[in-house]
Amino acid sequence: MRSMNDPASASDHAVRLDDIVVMVTGGGSGIGAATARLAAARGAAVGVIDRSEEHAAEVAADIAARGGTAVAVACDVTDDAAVASAVATVARLGRITGLVTSAGIFHGPDLAPIEQVSIDDFRHVLDVNLGGTFSAIRHALPHLADGGGSVVTIASTAALRGHGFGAGYTASKGGVDALTRLVAVQCGPRGVRANCICPGGIDTPMTGGAFASEEAQARARRAIPLGRYGRPDDIAQVAVWLLSDAARYVTGQTLPVEGGALVS
Ligand code: NAD
Repeated sequence: MRSMNDPASASDHAVRLDDIVVMVTGGGSGIGAATARLAAARGAAVGVIDRSEEHAAEVAADIAARGGTAVAVACDVTDDAAVASAVATVARLGRITGLVTSAGIFHGPDLAPIEQVSIDDFRHVLDVNLGGTFSAIRHALPHLADGGGSVVTIASTAALRGHGFGAGYTASKGGVDALTRLVAVQCGPRGVRANCICPGGIDTPMTGGAFASEEAQARARRAIPLGRYGRPDDIAQVAVWLLSDAARYVTGQTLPVEGGALVS
């Protein structure tokens, strides 16, 4: 018998997103792409927003090839006017009910010891990870608040514990977590829920294979109670649940999705 926790046995858990429109920033790769694909498979029409036009188009085409509905929009989330225009494009699919903010960077120069991180590099990471999240929420909100909506932000376990590197990354992710609570409190009375997922180490293009080697997998077996690094779909499953009506009474929460790494 297969384990319930074996990703290979993950089946359709029946959370549905029929007849809603979901916008995913960073939807061209990794966690965002997995979330866009899963939301579409569960019935949503999806706006795939990414700085990479090519990757956004690939994900949207893949969704369409499987019978889903998607529109790809090339957009840099640090450009507030471009985000406004992306929201307007996605809204042509219908009123936006779900927003997932996955666009983010892990920026080499920001990973140096803090005294060697330039203010420009620090600000650049804040601009993408935190400013981009702010812009997406700000422009999607009129749609989300027009009859109930759900915001799912993607922060990181770096928001919750000291990883010891990435000054801008850590500050930006702490900011995303706090901003999500603000949205939950401010917009709850307008029917908008907002929750923050904090992924642990997930094997995506961002991590460049760092979690895929045999050595890394051995490390995961020692350090992570569930014995492995995450996969994009592990996060997508939780994001889709938070978007869905099944999570209708859940808001303002920070949800680590890290195989238990934070509690071991
Ligand atoms: P990824 O690199 O595979 O995907 C990130 C996507 O965001 C890319 O398609 C990229 O083009 C897009 N993007 C980057 N800057 C952008 C911008 N300015 N405007 C528009 N799009 C932009 O990485 P991922 O691992 O899927 O990361 C997704 C989110 O999850 C990020 O916010 C990341 O910080 C967070 N996260 C990842 C991990 C991990 O281990 N992979 C862990 C914790 C949190």
